[in-house]
Amino acid sequence: MAMKEPSPDVVIVGGGLIGCSAAYFLSRRGARVLLLEKGGVGGETSSGAAGMLGVDSEPEEDPVCRAFARQSRSLYESLAEVFRREVGVDIQFEGKGLLSLARDEKEESEFRQREAGGHGSFWSPDEVRAQCPDLAEPFRGGLFHSLDGQVTASRVAEGFRRAAESLGAVVRENTKATGLIRQGNRVTGVRVGRKSVFGGTTLLALGPKGWSLASATGWRPPIFPVRGEILIFRPSRRLLPFPVFLGDSGFYLVPKPDGTFLAGTTVRRTNRAVLTNRGKDAISRAALAALPALADAPYMGGWAGLRPGTPDGWPLLGPVPGVEGLWIAAGHFRRGVLLTPATGLWISEAMNGAPPSGFDRFSPGRFTK
Ligand SMILES: Cc1cc2nc3c(=O)[nH]c(=O)nc-3n(C[C@H](O)[C@H](O)[C@H](O)COP(=O)(O)OP(=O)(O)OC[C@H]3O[C@@H](n4cnc5c(N)ncnc54)[C@H](O)[C@@H]3O)c2cc1C
Repeated sequence: MAMKEPSPDVVIVGGGLIGCSAAYFLSRRGARVLLLEKGGVGGETSSGAAGMLGVDSEPEEDPVCRAFARQSRSLYESLAEVFRREVGVDIQFEGKGLLSLARDEKEESEFRQREAGGHGSFWSPDEVRAQCPDLAEPFRGGLFHSLDGQVTASRVAEGFRRAAESLGAVVRENTKATGLIRQGNRVTGVRVGRKSVFGGTTLLALGPKGWSLASATGWRPPIFPVRGEILIFRPSRRLLPFPVFLGDSGFYLVPKPDGTFLAGTTVRRTNRAVLTNRGKDAISRAALAALPALADAPYMGGWAGLRPGTPDGWPLLGPVPGVEGLWIAAGHFRRGVLLTPATGLWISEAMNGAPPSGFDRFSPGRFTK
């Protein structure tokens, strides 16, 4: 039995940041969109990301990747305004920059080289002290990325969802796609239990897990879950003006606009999204050593999420090789929040027959060539 709504142009499976962004940009181009989410929108990885928009703080030499990330970051400012004005969602966008703290000679020299490569301005220890008086010494300065910023990831998913709905998209929560419907070499929709949902194109935005859904096509994307853990505090005052990376250690400190404070993170390839004692201990030690004032802040708990990893750390965007009617937008690893706006925009342009220049860089088939 078919569901009641008229057959959509695009059925999106997965209502994380990526699926919601695609729903918005496709709807903006006039496509009829149906989005299916097995739980609640933004309820998985996208709900607990730190929300940093780090183009220059996570440097990348590939020119297409850099341009893609920069475009995405720059879209946030206007989207923040659109979401606030049109659907009443404040994504807490802050464009105050990000600092990578140099804690030793090696990091100082590395960051000075990055400055020479155009990835930020190197600050002396005095300049760091003036901006971040609560940071503990020793440090040897830091690389400041003035164009980077942050948002609140769960609110971004909500903003895209509501803006897409205001343009006519239909969002069905608690609706799990259980299989693909195929006619020969073409995917014509998805199964939801015993129901069939037909659509012109099916876009899979499943995040880190559940890719057996695609295996009936004989293709499985090289996407794997990589756990990250975060601790949450509520200090009585704002301890830092902007997020700070503790050198190249992978640890970071993020003051959120709502008064909470995040400390992260760990990186482990596993499909178990659990906060571990080891992770808690490592993050907490690094955070307290860098920011002693955090010791007095109430601890609000922690969170673990699964990043959708790929072999090169960049997403798979576009038509699934050798299968008609099936597209993918997934595998954004550590940059999913940053890359959300450009992903939706590029997918909508490519589906409309005008792929942006460089779109092939993210070809889903690139690992099997
Ligand atoms: C600890 C941590 C910190 C992070 N910090 C940052 C950061 O600061 N900056 C940054 O840019 N990125 C960050 N990231 C990465 C970012 O969170 C992810 O790249 C991004 O959220 C991935 O979004 P997604 O929509 O692909 O996946 P998800 O959010 O997982 O969404 C996929 C959705 O698909 C649904 N789904 C799956 N299967 C089905 C099915 N069969 N039927 C229907 N629905 C289905 C799921 O329920 C889920 O809601 C962080 C990640 C972690 C874990």
